[in-house]
Amino acid sequence: MNTLSRRQFSKAAAGIIAAPLAAAAQTSFANLWGGSVVDCHHHLRRTPDDNIAHLDGCGVSNAMALARENSADQMQALEAKYPGRFLGWFASANILNPDAEALLTNAVKKGAIGFGELKFHVEAAGPELRRMYALATDLNVPVLIHFQEVPHTPTEGVFSTGFRNFESMLKMHPKTRFIGHADAFWANISANYANESAYPTGKIAPGGVTDKLLSDYPNLFGDLSANSGNNALSRDPEFTEGFLKRHEDKLIFGSDCACTDGKGGGISQGGNPGASRLAGKCVARETLGLLKKTASPAAFRKLTWENAHKVYRLKT
Ligand SMILES: [Zn+2]
Ligand SMILES: [Zn+2]
Repeated sequence: MNTLSRRQFSKAAAGIIAAPLAAAAQTSFANLWGGSVVDCHHHLRRTPDDNIAHLDGCGVSNAMALARENSADQMQALEAKYPGRFLGWFASANILNPDAEALLTNAVKKGAIGFGELKFHVEAAGPELRRMYALATDLNVPVLIHFQEVPHTPTEGVFSTGFRNFESMLKMHPKTRFIGHADAFWANISANYANESAYPTGKIAPGGVTDKLLSDYPNLFGDLSANSGNNALSRDPEFTEGFLKRHEDKLIFGSDCACTDGKGGGISQGGNPGASRLAGKCVARETLGLLKKTASPAAFRKLTWENAHKVYRLKT
């Protein structure tokens, strides 16, 4: 905890000021991105310090952590050590097990604010995930899904398949807040995609499924994280400008970066040869830089802060 946050904390605790603790973090990171930024695809790391090393290194004030259904104690310890930096957490559980619903329900009781990321070898419209979509509606929490139709390695397999037919799920669960993420979600930004590669390159053909679903369904949102998000936004800058404008209320910044120091150290896209374009780089820095130069200041604020607060109902 730095001096400022400690002072702020004790004042808040004494009831002198009601300023949110996040404001303390906000002050120290104002210079890099011009204000608070929340990374909504921050996989919980081994120790509290490992988490903060990444956030501090890439100048990101706050995070929404992706954790396990049994991570409540770990999140509490993290929040106690670094007050105000974590604005919430999502829980995941093995949805192939019959106790998944009970475990996720319990996680929400203990403070989780969403499900995810859900990344399993099942169909996106199959019974296992459909149960989770229904539970998300019952508990009024969002659900983050990893869509991937092309394996990155010979043994990896595919996840939440059938994105092109996902519309039926959006119709069937109108009250569920769906957040799309990963390869198939982002490759389908282009109309001419046919699962030929994990990260297609080149000009985008307008009218892609992702673009259309984001326009047509108020219950679908997009997670900008990982090489998939960065690649989609980098391949055709002219298209990106319009895309970000069209969906500036529905896209949420996240990094999914595995680098250690927020500067590209370690392995930023671990074990994924297809994502080598980001080797040695921090995905958070790359994507924030791209958004900063492409979107208006007001839209940047939405993409990196306001949308997440609205859709994920983050702490302020
Ligand atoms: Zn993922
Ligand atoms: Zn990084």
